[in-house]
Formats: sequence, structure tokens, C-alpha cells
Amino acid sequence: MSHSMSRRDWLRILGSSGLAAGVGSLAGRNAGAQESGFQSSIIASNKIQENRANPTIVDGRVIQPQRELPVLHSTDVLVIGGGSAGVCAAIAAKRAGADVCLVERYGHFGGLWTGGLVLIILGHIVTGNKQVCQGIGEEMMRRLDKMDGAIMNRRPGSNPTVDAEATKYLMVEMVEEAKIDVFLHCWGVDAIMDGNAVRGAVFESKSGRQAILAKVVVDASGDGDLFAAAGAEFEHRSHNIGLVSRIANLDRVDPAKAGDAPKPRPLGSVTPVRGVNWINMRGPEVDGLDVATLTRMELNHRKFIWQSTQRTRQTPGYEQVYLTETAPQLGVRITRVLHGLHTLTRDDLRAGKRFPDVVGVGGSENGQHDEWQIPYGALLPRKVDNVLASGRCISAEMRMADLVRLIPNCFVTGHAAGAAAAVCAADGCTPREVEVAKVQKVLKEQEAYLG
Ligand SMILES: Cc1cc2nc3c(=O)[nH]c(=O)nc-3n(C[C@H](O)[C@H](O)[C@H](O)COP(=O)(O)OP(=O)(O)OC[C@H]3O[C@@H](n4cnc5c(N)ncnc54)[C@H](O)[C@@H]3O)c2cc1C
Repeated sequence: MSHSMSRRDWLRILGSSGLAAGVGSLAGRNAGAQESGFQSSIIASNKIQENRANPTIVDGRVIQPQRELPVLHSTDVLVIGGGSAGVCAAIAAKRAGADVCLVERYGHFGGLWTGGLVLIILGHIVTGNKQVCQGIGEEMMRRLDKMDGAIMNRRPGSNPTVDAEATKYLMVEMVEEAKIDVFLHCWGVDAIMDGNAVRGAVFESKSGRQAILAKVVVDASGDGDLFAAAGAEFEHRSHNIGLVSRIANLDRVDPAKAGDAPKPRPLGSVTPVRGVNWINMRGPEVDGLDVATLTRMELNHRKFIWQSTQRTRQTPGYEQVYLTETAPQLGVRITRVLHGLHTLTRDDLRAGKRFPDVVGVGGSENGQHDEWQIPYGALLPRKVDNVLASGRCISAEMRMADLVRLIPNCFVTGHAAGAAAAVCAADGCTPREVEVAKVQKVLKEQEAYLG
């Protein structure tokens, strides 16, 4: 930047994005004049952390005492996780008339789609290139299409690929347009229970441990963190965990110069940014719920990506290729999968089974099979109430997992869960009792395709 921004500039920008209230409250305080040009104030001097309930060691065991939690927010529908499923769920619920709160552990929306740099949207089509992912997912793609350099290969059958930053931007725009209450940097750690029913969730953030109360909760965490915390039954699976990266300057490569030198490793697939490719990584099959494993994957994958890019640069003609970024989010594909009222099976897909409680239609990677219906029961735990699953953790047998987890199918199940949650909140019923015909009506009004 050619000039530094003044405090006034920042307040103006923050004000236009609706964040001015919190920042403005500092403006009248004892803003310390800083010789450096930065601003910093003492918010409270000599403070001791409030609301502490430190665990103690009792007989060699660490014991957490009971404590009251501050309630950060109350809402109709609480969506936990702002990935492709969660953002669709939140928008669907809000457009259906519910108050919605969307909570995300990181600082951006999109989950694996953006933070995981999984830029290719596979699975929105079936045989004959018919597009079955409609509704909010399709709206996102349409809107990306209108933005400069945001999406390429939009035509069905040609694997749409997005720019991660454009997609993060669009999601902020759509979430703000819908006037959804958002809390970022909030990690959902527990379910608040009333008997068998979920009534909200507990979050950890820099503000401490707080509660959000809700009439209905949508678990869009990808890993089923909330339904697991509530005691719902699930299958714990391992899968390949990789780390996606992007490399640049491919438009400056001169392969002719390589001569007989060993070929560099595969250079990935194109993105909307000229000369920049994204490189997928399969990685080893491991347990994505084990923190020591996740740590090892991050460290190993980061070393591998850096070193292999350096090797590429040593190939004549490839000297200018460089690593622009490794994905901030590790590529965890599958961990917990709900045991739902209905489990999606490959046999049902092959038979083209139709369900009276259909709430979405799934597609395939390259349109290699017909459409398959997703029944509402695949989002519902068998016993625990008031929580709906969405995205890659809905109820599906092993042979369906690699289809269910594709981004468009996550759009579809997120959309369905959000619409259902809004109907429950309006009708004062639980997800198990909801009139599915009403949910289907809302979904159709929101341009979802139900077969
Ligand atoms: C390496 C890799 C390659 C892939 N390739 C493709 C491909 O080519 N095409 C394709 O269509 N799909 C592909 N997929 C699958 C696809 O990217 C994901 O399955 C899909 O994006 C999952 O969406 P989701 O919303 O269900 O979950 P996620 O994207 O995982 O979103 C979950 C969100 O919840 C947040 N969260 C998690 N836990 C908590 C918590 N406790 N509290 C608060 N927030 C929480 C996360 O930060 C995240 O934002 C790939 C996946 C991987 C890992």
C-alpha cells in the first residue's frame, strides 16, 4: 500500500460492514497517543480473568468443576460450522423466516471448499450432464459467474473451479445480505441438553466458554461434533487425509528446456487465476479425530509440499514456479458419520429408489450415474432430538461416503437441513415431528431440485 490508513479510514470501513458498534466504543476512551502511529488503549488495568472455574487435580485426576455459563445469544436455528453445508443451511433457514445464528471455528466461511483449497465442484450433475444441484448451491455458482475471475468451467460436465478468495467474499456477502447473526472464532465443544433434546451448544473462544441457546441445531461441522456431543450414534471412520496447495508462475514454465531431466511432480489443475494451479493430495488413511495424528499430518504434508516444490524449481524451465500457499485447513475427508433414521446405500442409488420424504437429489463426480434421492431420515439421529446433520457427516454407508461428501451434495443436504430447521422453529415441533411436505414446499420455493 502506498499510504497507511488512518484510524478514521478504518472506522469508516468497519462501519460500512456493520462492525462499528464494538470498535466505536473504544473511540471515546483514553486512546493513547502512540509515536509509532498505531493506536492502543488500556481497556482495563490490572484485570483478573472473570468466570474462572479452574480444573484441579484430585487424586491424580484432572477434575472440572461445575459452573454457570454466560449465554452469548438465543436464536431459532443455530448452525454449527460455516462450510459449504453450513452456509447453505443458514441462508435457507433465514430465508424461510427463522432467526439464525451461524458459528464457525475459523475466520472465514467455506470450510474445505475455501480453507481446504478444494476448488473443484464435482458432483452437481448426473447422466446426460443434467444438473441436480440447484437452490442455494447453484445460486452461489451463478453469482460467482458474475464476479471477475471467480469461477471457470461453469458449463455442466466441465467441472466448475472457483477462486477461494472470491468464494469467501461471496459467502460473506450472502450471509450479510440474509442478516444472519455470525460468530467466528467460536469452536462448538458441547451440546446443551434437555433430556433427549438438544437446546443449544457451548462454545470456546477468546471470550471464554459461552452458551448459545436455540430451538433447533444444525450440525454442519463436517465431523458431527455436535451430534456426537449430544450422544447420537455414529460410525467412526478413517479416510485419506491430505493437504491441498496452490503453485504459481506456471505460465512462465518452458518445458522444452527440461530436455532429459526427470519430469517434475504433477503440477495440479487449473484455477481461474492465470498461471496458478491447485494440487490435490490423497494422503494416508488415518483417523481424523486423533489430535496427534492431525498434528503429524500437518507437519509431514507441509514439509513434503515445500520440498517437492523446490525439486520442481530445480528442473530446467521450471525455475520460476513457486508455492503460493498451503491450505490453512487440513484435508480431512470423513470422520464421524451419523447412524440416522435412514442410511443412504449404493443399492438404493443403483435402483434409483424414490423416497416420500425426499429433501434433495445427489449427483456424481462426472455424471457417470443417474440421480439418487436423499431422504430426510438421512439427516436425523435415531434417538437424540432437535439436531439435524448436514454435509459430509450425514447417514450413509461406506460405499456412499465419497459421493455424499462432494461439495454440491453438501450444498444440497445443508440447504435441506436449514429449511427443515426453520419449519420446526416456526411450527414449534422437533425435527422428528416436522411435516416433511412443508419442508419440501419451502425447498421448492427456494428453487431446490427434489427429482
Ligand atoms: C483433499 C480433499 C479433496 C477433495 N476433493 C474434492 C473435489 O475434487 N470435489 C468435490 O466436490 N469435493 C471434494 N472433496 C470433498 C469436499 O471438499 C468436502 O467433503 C466438503 O467441502 C465438505 O463440506 P462440509 O460443509 O460438509 O464440511 P467442511 O467443509 O469440513 O465444513 C465444516 C465447517 O465447520 C467448521 N467446524 C468444524 N468443527 C467445528 C466446531 N466444533 N465448531 C465450530 N465450527 C466447526 C469448520 O471449520 C468448517 O468451516 C475433497 C475433500 C478433501 C479433503
